[in-house]
Amino acid sequence: MREDLMKAAVLTGPRQIEIKQIPVTPVGPGMMEIKVSACGVCGSDVHMWTAGRGWGKQENCGFVMGHEFCGVVTNPGDSSFKPGDRVTFWANLYCGKCDQCMAGREHLCREVNGTNYIGFVCNGAYAERFVGKASNAYLLPDSVSDVAAGLIDPLMVAYHAIHRSKIRLHDKVLVVGSGIIGQMLGELARKAGASCVAMSSISEVKTRKAREIGIFDEYFDGSDPGIAERLKAASQGGFDIAFEAAGAASALNTCVNAVCPGGKVVMIGNSITPEVSFAMNRAVLQEVSLLGSVSCSRVEFEETIDLIAKGMIHPEKYVTDILPLEELQHAFERQIDPRDPMLKTVIKP
Ligand SMILES: [Zn+2]
Ligand SMILES: [Zn+2]
Repeated sequence: MREDLMKAAVLTGPRQIEIKQIPVTPVGPGMMEIKVSACGVCGSDVHMWTAGRGWGKQENCGFVMGHEFCGVVTNPGDSSFKPGDRVTFWANLYCGKCDQCMAGREHLCREVNGTNYIGFVCNGAYAERFVGKASNAYLLPDSVSDVAAGLIDPLMVAYHAIHRSKIRLHDKVLVVGSGIIGQMLGELARKAGASCVAMSSISEVKTRKAREIGIFDEYFDGSDPGIAERLKAASQGGFDIAFEAAGAASALNTCVNAVCPGGKVVMIGNSITPEVSFAMNRAVLQEVSLLGSVSCSRVEFEETIDLIAKGMIHPEKYVTDILPLEELQHAFERQIDPRDPMLKTVIKP
C-alpha cells in the first residue's frame, strides 16, 4: 500500500521551518482525521520555534506545531462525528481521571503541567491534515468562521482570566501588555461591566493597533518612568483589577503599584525567566491579591466557542495577517520583530 502523504510545516531546528511531505498518522481507536482549514499562530509557538523543538519526545522526521485550529472531518474513525462536520480541537491533553479533572479544572490536570498540549508534545495542525483524539474535538456552529476558530485559544485564556478576576460592575480595569490576549481582555472586561479599561504597553505599534480597534479608554506608555503616578492619577486612586499580560517583572510591578488598596492582580503572562522580583511590601501592606491564570476549563472552552457563535465578540478584527503554510517561517520572523505591526496571524494550509 502506498503511504498517505501530506504537506506540513516541519520544525527542523532552531528558527527553522521547512515545508515537507510527511506521512499522515493512521487513524487508530478513539482518533479522527480532519482536513485543516485554519490554524492560529501563538506566542508559545514562537518559543518552540526559537528552541527548535517541542516539549515531547520528538520523532526523527521533525515536529509539527499548531494548536489553535479547526477543520473538516475527513475520517471520523469510531467517533460520532460525520465526514464533512466542521470541528475545532481543544489542545489540552487532560487525563480526565485526576482530582483536578474530576473537579472540572482540566486546565490544572496533574498530567498537563502547562505543556501537555496538541502541537507541544505531539504533532499539531500546521499541515494539510491533522489526526487526534476525537474526545478533544468540538462541533463548530456555522456562525463561527474558520478564521474566528483560529482565535478561540487566546480568547479562552482571556475569558478564564476574566472569571478569575471576579470583576464586578463599574470596576476600573488596567491591562498591562498589548498582545492578542491583552487586547481581548480589554474587550471582555468592558463586556463584563468595567467602567473604564486602560492599556499600558511598551509596544508603540501594538498600541496603535489597539487604538484602531478602539476598545480601551486610555493608553499609557509602559516605558515612561512616571508611569506609576500617571496610572494613579488616571484611575483616581488605583484600579480595582490589573491584568498582567506581558510576562515581565516590570509589567508585574506596574500592576502591583497601579491597583487600589485591596485590589487584584491577575497574572496571565508567561515569564521567560522562572523567577522575577516584585514589590512584595506593596502587595502585603495594601493587601493586593495576586492570582495566577492559565488556559481555561473544558466548560469554559465550550463557552468560548459560544461567545463567538452568539456574536458577543468578533475576534476577526484582531487578525492582521492570513497566510499560507509556506509563509509560516516568515510569520515567526516577523513575530519576534518588535517593529512589526503583526498582532495575530492565521495560517490557512
Ligand atoms: Zn496558543
Ligand atoms: Zn487530569
